[in-house]
This record gives sequence, structure tokens and C-alpha cells, in this order.
Amino acid sequence: MKILVGVKRVVDHNVKVRVKADGSAVDLDNLKMAINPFDEIAVEAAVRLKEAGIASEVVVVSIGPEKAQDTLRQALAMGADRAILVPYAGLSEPLAVAKTLKALVAKEAAQLVMLGKQAIDDDCNQTGQMLAALLDWPQGTFASELKVADGQVEVVREIDGGLETIALALPAVVSVDLRLNEPRFASLPSIMKAKKKPLEQVTAEELGVDLSPRLELLSAVEPPVRQAGGVLVATAAELVAKLKTEAAVL
Ligand code: AMP
Repeated sequence: MKILVGVKRVVDHNVKVRVKADGSAVDLDNLKMAINPFDEIAVEAAVRLKEAGIASEVVVVSIGPEKAQDTLRQALAMGADRAILVPYAGLSEPLAVAKTLKALVAKEAAQLVMLGKQAIDDDCNQTGQMLAALLDWPQGTFASELKVADGQVEVVREIDGGLETIALALPAVVSVDLRLNEPRFASLPSIMKAKKKPLEQVTAEELGVDLSPRLELLSAVEPPVRQAGGVLVATAAELVAKLKTEAAVL
């Protein structure tokens, strides 16, 4: 079973992003970029399936700028076998990514596609669902546990009221949630080894996919600045008095 994993290059989750002065978009210039954290979890899950002898090959894919090669190399250092970059300088949109992944699924004859539940830059949470619809494959979203056996994927899903367990017949699409696993740190030897692993470039034209945007970003605004809310009180008695007289909650 070949697994395709989508990895997106996004702004590092520790970076506080700012809106451009003209409010046209978020300013991405000179920011630290990283692999989308949920995609790191998807790579880890796929590599574990390979280590368990369930998957035959793990192929990581990114639709993004040349620099996304670094992101792919990181996934290779975690244990993926091969990488494919579909070069695109603009902001990738979920439908375009889903169409690209569909074309790569056919090219690679992959049986399982693993994605993050969402990209932390656009917060769309759409790509996996769109891909499953385009492929007409079953999907398990928000996976917090995963078992693959006998041509089936058992997915425990995190839902509002608790956990739901579903079985999907392969081939299938799975999008992963935070609690699925803890991604490994790539060791220095594996980083060195990753430099020699194959990283192929395939253009959108070769795949017959149009990546041009269908959405127009009208404006971006900073969230309102929070008012300072806390007051330090000296004693419990003072707290009780304030709750009674000022907050009127007692
Ligand atoms: P989204 O629907 O944008 O929130 O993204 C959900 C998931 O789709 C991500 O966690 C990735 O696994 C995958 N994905 C989205 N955009 C890309 C991209 N440009 N390249 C590769 N994978 C992507």
C-alpha cells in the first residue's frame, strides 16, 4: 500500500503574524516558515505504518514555492521515502490542492492519502473533504487513532460530544487531528540521509490541473486589542467585596 501525504509550508506557529499596512493581506515577508503541524503528524502516522510493514512506500507532496523543498526534506528526514513538489508561487487554495492530489493519486496509484485536518495559515479544513469527494473515496476526518488491516482503515474521530469510530474501505482519505501521535525529531543522520532521497518536480500543467485562484481576498484586519482585564486584590475579603459591589455576582 502506497501512502501519499500532503505537506504544506506555512508560517511557523510561534510567529505572531501582522496585517499589511494597507489591510490587503497578512504580511508574510521574512517570516519563519515551517511544516504545517498537522501535516507533521500525518507524516509520522504514515511512517509508522511503513515501519509496521503495512505501507510499502510513503510519498510526500507539496504544492508551493521552491522553498517548500525544505519542508519536503524535513518530511523525508522523518522517514518518508520520496517527495514531489508541484511548484506554485501563489497562495494555494484547497480545491486546487485537492485536484492536484487527485491527479497524483492516479499517477502514483496511491491507496491512502493522509492530510492534516487543517492548514494553520488559511484554517480552511477543506482539502481532505474535497479530495475524498473528487475521488469518490471514503474519508475519515479528525483522526485521533488509526488502524489499518484487512483492506480497511479504522479511524477514531474526535467529535464535539466525544469519540466516534468508523471503518473505511481502502482506498481512502484520512485527515489527522492533534492527538494522533507525537511526531519524532529527525536525527542528524536522518537529515543527512534525507538530502539524498528523491525529490521530483511535477508541474500543474503536466498533471492537467489549473492552480489559478478562484477566491479573492477582500481585506484582512488585526483582531481587536484586548482590554487589560485583571485586577490584583490583596486579600480574600477584598475579592468578596469586589464580587459583591463591583461585579454584582454574589
Ligand atoms: P486546508 O484545507 O487548507 O485547511 O488544508 C488541509 C490539509 O490539506 C493540510 O493539512 C495539508 O495536509 C493539505 N494541504 C493543504 N494545502 C496544501 C499544499 N499547498 N500542499 C500540500 N498539502 C496541502
